[in-house]
Amino acid sequence: AKVLKDPDCIFCKIVAGEIPCAKVFESEACLAFLDIAPVHPGHVLVLPKDHHPTLMDTPAELGKDLMAALSSVSKAVMEATGADGLNLFQNNHEAAGQLVHHVHFHLVPRHADDGLEL
Ligand code: 5GP
Ligand code: ZN
Repeated sequence: AKVLKDPDCIFCKIVAGEIPCAKVFESEACLAFLDIAPVHPGHVLVLPKDHHPTLMDTPAELGKDLMAALSSVSKAVMEATGADGLNLFQNNHEAAGQLVHHVHFHLVPRHADDGLEL
């Protein structure tokens, strides 16, 4: 299947297999891999394979595939880490801390006493 690609985008290069990643999930439309600089062990990124810079650019048609990926990866991350909970967050534009301009969702497994403040 043809993928919408930005030649300067690091996540597009990961999707294309040009840069390695620790893959945890793949479907036709989405990919998930471990964050290279985890805020907590088990920090995973979920993204559509197609390049859309922000959530606001992402077509509604992706909703079903994206939600299926978010749900099954969340379940897998919780099982793999024995977490008690999980945070999902997502940054758009530099003012909100977005560093990679290919829409992605952060999944962070949580434990009752982990002391993380997100
Ligand atoms: P943002 O701040 O854009 O929401 O998050 C970008 C995330 O991507 C950061 O948590 C960062 O650690 C992660 N990241 C950046 N470059 C790479 C990479 O080449 N590989 C992986 N696995 N993660 C990356
Ligand atoms: Zn991209």
